[in-house]
Amino acid sequence: MTMFKITAIPALNDNYIWAIHNDSVAFVVDPGETEPVLEFLAANQLALTGILCTHRHHDHIGGIAKLRAVYNVPVYGRCHPGNPHISHDLQGGEQLKLDAFGLSFDIIAVPGHLDDHIAYYASAGSGILFCGDVLFGAGCGKSFEGTVAQLYDSLKKLSELPDATLMYCAHEYTASNLRFAAICDPDNPAVQQRISDTRELRAANLSTVPSTMQMEKATNPFLRYNDADIIKVLQQRGLTDTSGQAVFTALRLWRDKF
Ligand SMILES: [Zn+2]
Repeated sequence: MTMFKITAIPALNDNYIWAIHNDSVAFVVDPGETEPVLEFLAANQLALTGILCTHRHHDHIGGIAKLRAVYNVPVYGRCHPGNPHISHDLQGGEQLKLDAFGLSFDIIAVPGHLDDHIAYYASAGSGILFCGDVLFGAGCGKSFEGTVAQLYDSLKKLSELPDATLMYCAHEYTASNLRFAAICDPDNPAVQQRISDTRELRAANLSTVPSTMQMEKATNPFLRYNDADIIKVLQQRGLTDTSGQAVFTALRLWRDKF
């Protein structure tokens, strides 16, 4: 029996605040805004019992202070001087049990977007991953802190999760990411299929998230650094080192200017 549901609370321009909830209580992931969360809780007669943070960017933590003025709940995440809200520090390697939902999360350190970025993975059902701004639908986060090599290592770690894992990222970026995928991976039919599926979903105002790790491995260039066709496209642009890290780095730099 499933003891929880996961519901998207749209916020800001293109953020998703994910709510993990049952019939009475909820956790939220990365509340960048307060009002949409309070409205969701009221509409569903839920009490907030905790907050999960993936990293300290304002569009992920901006709603925490006001939420905690209403609900004095624990805030899990990685302690950082730029994030004053964390009450329970997670560095990566720990487990976090949320008994109300029958969930146990593995905490995975995924630096490369920001140093304090962590991801939450639970094997329940097909598998659940909250990955913030590290992995997106058909794309990945920008490297703001640390190195692109760290971002590569972090994505590699996530790509080792089971194929069926549901990937809950924090932004609706899939359509724009697919425009890049279509250029660097032009002969991939899975990319073309995802472009048309994404167009239909967005036209109906539906979310493209969650996707699966399997879908990302088939269509996300940033998990396809071993793909011969992508490597060939990059070689035509001057790439000589075809190691996974060099291919990934070339893709990230190209995407930054795309
Ligand atoms: Zn971010």
